[in-house]
Amino acid sequence: MEELKRRIVQEAGIISKQVLNLDTVLNHQVDPPLIMEMGRRFAALFREQSITKVLTIESSGITVGFATALDLGVPLVFARRKKTLTTDQEVYSERVPSFTKGIVTDILVSKSVLGPNDRVLLIDDIIANGDAARGLIRVIERSGAELVGLGIVVEKCFQAGARTIRESGFRLESLVKIQSLDNGEVKFL
Ligand code: 5GP
Repeated sequence: MEELKRRIVQEAGIISKQVLNLDTVLNHQVDPPLIMEMGRRFAALFREQSITKVLTIESSGITVGFATALDLGVPLVFARRKKTLTTDQEVYSERVPSFTKGIVTDILVSKSVLGPNDRVLLIDDIIANGDAARGLIRVIERSGAELVGLGIVVEKCFQAGARTIRESGFRLESLVKIQSLDNGEVKFL
């Protein structure tokens, strides 16, 4: 996605050799036409897979997950990070380290929205070490649903997450691959 690359070059802040700030593109503000285009790309990549649900995690995966689910004509489920008054008693819950917060958090998905008849496309904004994605994969496995593949907007190739998930046998597609953030510069693969 050339437009996405252009926006990253123009707008990303490089916080360190490992972390970039994509607040104006993905994490704090979004451009609806760009998000809808991301959704169309993921939907096109996985359209033949008889997907029944798109799964993401709050909050930054929701916009792209929604756009993908809309194009595929299926519901979007977003894992929660906190219990609320209305959270079902019956939940799949997994503990995952949070890359940006530096703490361990729980991810929760109600048993009422994911089950053995589902074929799931997992969507997220950025992959680093892959902990969030692996937590969601464990939730899918425990629900009895089938994981068809993963669609990630920004893959940081210099961290191990995407590689190890592909090595586990899952299909992972990303829209933009970043090779390095060295010398204060975004280098795409
Ligand atoms: P992982 O679990 O793969 O280590 O990290 C994935 C999550 O951490 C993503 O959902 C994303 O929100 C956040 N994250 C990982 N790397 C970055 C980064 O470089 N910048 C920002 N803004 N978020 C990141």
